[in-house]
Amino acid sequence: MITLYHKVQKIESLQKSIDKDTRIFKLSAGIDCEKHCAECCRYHDINATPLEFLPFAWHACRLGQLDQWFDQLEKNEGRQCIFTKLIDSSWGCSIYPARGFICRLFGFAATTDKNGHPAYGACRILKQKQPDKVAKAGEFIARGGRVPVMASYYRQLAAIDPTLGTQFMPINDAIKKALEIVYFHLHYREAA
Ligand code: SF4
Repeated sequence: MITLYHKVQKIESLQKSIDKDTRIFKLSAGIDCEKHCAECCRYHDINATPLEFLPFAWHACRLGQLDQWFDQLEKNEGRQCIFTKLIDSSWGCSIYPARGFICRLFGFAATTDKNGHPAYGACRILKQKQPDKVAKAGEFIARGGRVPVMASYYRQLAAIDPTLGTQFMPINDAIKKALEIVYFHLHYREAA
């Protein structure tokens, strides 16, 4: 049976693939985020799976930060992701290297239509502020240019854990569930 640690390693390997593929897409299609944007992190309807936050929870545990994050989630009443930093000229993601799959792919990946053809899913800000570049990125994909396909990475994630990799829920719930999985794993192991 695959251990929790091996799941973390496999997810981190997929994170690296996503980062490489989105980087190549951005360069090839000539599109990127607006500087200091982070608008997508403010959305109140971001859904994610617990599995994509397992590496974050694993490293939080190693750093002795489980209680700190449980407390923060407990106090949080909003639906915005708890890791979003948008105050005092500070901006962005406070766990950037360990952020979820949705965070890595959003705005720089494609969905597929019923015939399996990729369709670029640019974010609202890019559509408003860089419409020409969005159109060119769409043309790049239509010509057969390589684009990360969202569903493909989620299929690979689900192959690591078919339950936790397919349960989509509000992002803060997914983060909490990932922390709980690591917490119970630790206590079960210590009690065994
Ligand atoms: S984890 Fe980070 S990148 Fe993802 S939504 Fe939260 S703040 Fe944004």
